[in-house]
Amino acid sequence: MGSALLDLLFPPRCPFCRRLLTERHALLCPDCQRTLPWLEGDSARRTGEFFGVCVSPLAYRGPVREAVHRYKFSGSRSYARPFGQLMAQCVRDQLDGRFDCVTWAPLSARRLRQRGYDQARLLAEEAARVLEVPALPLLNKTRDIPPQSGLEEAGQRRANVLGVYRAPDAAAGLRVLLADDVVTTGSTLSECARTLLTAGAAEVVCVTLAQARKDRPEKPRKTAK
Ligand SMILES: [Zn+2]
Repeated sequence: MGSALLDLLFPPRCPFCRRLLTERHALLCPDCQRTLPWLEGDSARRTGEFFGVCVSPLAYRGPVREAVHRYKFSGSRSYARPFGQLMAQCVRDQLDGRFDCVTWAPLSARRLRQRGYDQARLLAEEAARVLEVPALPLLNKTRDIPPQSGLEEAGQRRANVLGVYRAPDAAAGLRVLLADDVVTTGSTLSECARTLLTAGAAEVVCVTLAQARKDRPEKPRKTAK
């Protein structure tokens, strides 16, 4: 179907407040553009053990948190387009020229079957399209683990993800932009980055849609990555 017809049948809505978008190519509504918890400058950046920097356009709270939950747990996969584009804009502002390709922190095969889509992959692919670099599947998740969001302590979160990813040789020599939906303690991104560097990647920098505060963990939820 043509996109005009699709727009007629499913008019685009703001992913954060779900109001109809009046401007055809807008990613979000003017109200949310004004009032969302945007991160700028240094507040958009976080460092990690094995990645140089992680940048995020938004803080993970209020309508941002609700929108991410709809994206991950309620099948709102169309949010990948506006979310991925917001991530790409943030990367352009903060990390220009520091990567050759985009990859993502993947779901396990079991979780992928349950959800039907890999939410981080869709974000990575949309961001890569906008940034005009390839999106490459450089990582596999070899087993299912308890949700990171159910673990509050950084040490527990690190131990939970240790050794669960594998990277084929394709990562060798690449400067990688690693994408995920939310960064909290950075354990998942750090373990993915460690795996990529062990496989020979030259450098890993990260982007997520939203950044949760380290000192105030999100409440445990029943389902998560
Ligand atoms: Zn809105």
